[in-house]
Amino acid sequence: MADLREYPRNKEGSTISKIVVDRDLCIAAVSCIAVAAETWELDDENKVVIKDADSVDDATLIASAEACPTKAIYLYDTEGNQVFPK
Ligand code: SF4
Repeated sequence: MADLREYPRNKEGSTISKIVVDRDLCIAAVSCIAVAAETWELDDENKVVIKDADSVDDATLIASAEACPTKAIYLYDTEGNQVFPK
């Protein structure tokens, strides 16, 4: 079973309310951190975790998910629909 970790996002005005990381897919490429260093950090297992889910705007958050070579980051809107990857 996939090792999924869920993080709520409560940024005012944001249409993204949940971030999920598939830890099995994360290979510590750090592309996501390069795009949004305020949002992401690596833990002691070299897997990405949320540092601050509300730190960046939606466009930057989506860009950081898009940057991941293994598509380990999933984004959901306020109604629970997956908005990335489509
Ligand atoms: S870009 Fe993807 S593989 Fe790299 S650290 Fe971020 S989530 Fe992990």
